[in-house]
Amino acid sequence: MKELKTLISEEELTKRIKEVAEEINNFYGDEKLTVICVLKGAIMFCSHLIKYLKMPVELECVRLSSYGTSTKSSGKVKALDLTLPQLEGKNVLVVEDIIDTGLTLKFLKDYIESTLNPKTLKIATLIDKKISRLNDMQPDFYGFDIDDKFIVGFGLDYEEIYRNIPYIGYFE
Ligand code: 5GP
Repeated sequence: MKELKTLISEEELTKRIKEVAEEINNFYGDEKLTVICVLKGAIMFCSHLIKYLKMPVELECVRLSSYGTSTKSSGKVKALDLTLPQLEGKNVLVVEDIIDTGLTLKFLKDYIESTLNPKTLKIATLIDKKISRLNDMQPDFYGFDIDDKFIVGFGLDYEEIYRNIPYIGYFE
């Protein structure tokens, strides 16, 4: 790996996350929202996003893994922790770091819809990598659309490192 270049600066992230939060506020109004943070990658996006949400928010986390230690999706989703309460009658917003192939999101969406019966289920992702999509998964709210680049920082890792970097970067 070579030098880490900035793709999205800390300032751009903050500005756009506030805008996405505003879209979510406008969509749900005062209705209570259950936010499901997909760990570990969405930890930064989710913690910043929920600061700007104005409705009552319940926070849950699940832990999934699809990349392992590579820079390409393994194509297999590993559910490391899917502990969730009953979501019957609730508005649920899944918060993802990045949608790449869409396999992780499809797995989680199918699981939640088939077993936990929420009133509504929407998806927010910080990054949408549309170009690598292998299914019809689309976010309802997204921060940035990027090309087919492997990115790190702001929660995203390479071999478990770089999650703490406050901007989104890529290796040349
Ligand atoms: P998908 O199942 O959509 O292919 O991939 C979703 C997961 O793969 C993301 O939640 C993220 O953890 C990982 N991932 C996808 N693209 C990237 C990337 O460019 N950088 C990093 N660090 N992880 C990625």
